[in-house]
Amino acid sequence: MNPSPPWPPPAAPCPDHWPALLNRLSQAVGRESLLSSAAEREAYGRDNTGCRHLPWAVVLAENRQQVEQTLRLCHEAAVPVIPRGAGTGNVGGALAVQGGVVLSLQRMNRIVEISVADRLAVVEPGVIHADLQARLRPHALCWPPDPSSSRSCSIGGNLAMCAGGPHAVHYGVTRDWVLGLEAVLADGRLFRTGGRTSKGVVGYDMTRLLIGSEGTLAVITQATLKLAPKPEARRLVRALFPSVAEATRGVCALMAEGEPPAAIEFLDASALDLLRQSGAVSLPAEGRAMLLLEVTGSHAHIQSLTDATLQRLSRFACLELLQAGAEEATTLWAARYALSPTLKKLAPRRINEDVVVPVSRLPELMEGLAEIARKSQIPIVNFGHAGNGNIHVNLLVDPANSPQMAAVNPTLEQVFRLVLALDGSLSGEHGVGIQKQAFLPWEVDPVALMLQQRIKAAFDPQAILNPGKIFPAQ
Ligand SMILES: Cc1cc2nc3c(=O)[nH]c(=O)nc-3n(C[C@H](O)[C@H](O)[C@H](O)COP(=O)(O)OP(=O)(O)OC[C@H]3O[C@@H](n4cnc5c(N)ncnc54)[C@H](O)[C@@H]3O)c2cc1C
Repeated sequence: MNPSPPWPPPAAPCPDHWPALLNRLSQAVGRESLLSSAAEREAYGRDNTGCRHLPWAVVLAENRQQVEQTLRLCHEAAVPVIPRGAGTGNVGGALAVQGGVVLSLQRMNRIVEISVADRLAVVEPGVIHADLQARLRPHALCWPPDPSSSRSCSIGGNLAMCAGGPHAVHYGVTRDWVLGLEAVLADGRLFRTGGRTSKGVVGYDMTRLLIGSEGTLAVITQATLKLAPKPEARRLVRALFPSVAEATRGVCALMAEGEPPAAIEFLDASALDLLRQSGAVSLPAEGRAMLLLEVTGSHAHIQSLTDATLQRLSRFACLELLQAGAEEATTLWAARYALSPTLKKLAPRRINEDVVVPVSRLPELMEGLAEIARKSQIPIVNFGHAGNGNIHVNLLVDPANSPQMAAVNPTLEQVFRLVLALDGSLSGEHGVGIQKQAFLPWEVDPVALMLQQRIKAAFDPQAILNPGKIFPAQ
């Protein structure tokens, strides 16, 4: 096993029959739904990785028929198709790494139905996550997956990546909140999985198979989402600790006994410095780690639930243990969500991993990460969804610093080995895409990997749907 830098080869040039296919696509979907000039394609050649892979053309699908036609024609011509939502992905999943047609779902953004009686919503994939939540608010309902990119990412992207967020500790992730899907196969055939019921055990669970498949098995054209009542009230508790070790022990205790809070976010000393600099909150200098805990419940019970959380944490050596006021809570959440974009600006290059371990192993993870950072001389900032054991590990590097850059891959390998030794997983949210392919065999059982490749071949025998993703090059 040799995990050389997981970077894809340059895109293949257009095949000779490309002009004929472009012509057929234009006739099928209409000229106004097809982008072919370099300037028009540019915006679809990037995502949040910063990598650039210009597609040969972009189809802006407005309905499922255009999705079916695009796939059918590209399948006949053996040309890659890359589904794309809002392009906020962190692992290059929506990039045309082998050339081909980017199939954008952003115009398929209708909320088809909200059924309060069945607590479900039927949506097209291009609906922006925050727009759906806004439409559900008057019904006192929500769709619980809560990626921090809510205002920019699409539901289709959430489904394809099985997105999660701070409240996954209470609600779980995207796969726990989907009842059924409508999707189109690589050859253009439409199919449906699941339905409108909250129970159903007939046949294999194809819905869950598609969720998290990173656009490699089928293009999702509609989803039936399970909804939850929106909590009546929420409170934020902030707990400041003299050490990371004490903070992670607090997390373990909260998760081991009784009802866990709705969210448990962790920030290490470097992340706290960023918070201090942002002016969001004034914190004593001795504070080396912080937990933000959200408690949710009914108006009648919210204070007693908050008091119970404060009580449970009081046996740890907190420097501060406070219930934040409403205004401070809003500021703290905004500062927490701003951490990722701030880090991006702070260093010439930021490598953002999102490892996850069983929560009881969190203290060992944080200890190991500190040791790796010390030895590698690479600044590492850690924060994340501690209640799930899901930590964003941010390596801050400067491409002009050759010794530092030479240390990046060995450092990442040490991080991944540590995580797997702790029975964890290499990604809790971001997925594999083009960035962690080389490490897939480190985590996935060889027989399970063989089965996954056979599943891919069953869905897409010509390997035209989002090629060059997830699986290491053979
Ligand atoms: C600031 C920031 C914060 C973030 N925070 C979080 C977070 O808290 N939690 C989290 O999980 N992620 C987070 N992300 C990552 C990203 O927002 C999610 O992965 C999101 O779900 C991607 O949605 P998208 O619409 O941008 O998808 P894209 O980036 O367009 O695509 C992502 C993948 O989904 C596939 N895809 C898209 N639509 C479809 C479809 N209809 N059918 C089949 N495949 C499809 C694409 O082929 C690609 O492989 C964050 C990103 C940013 C930039």
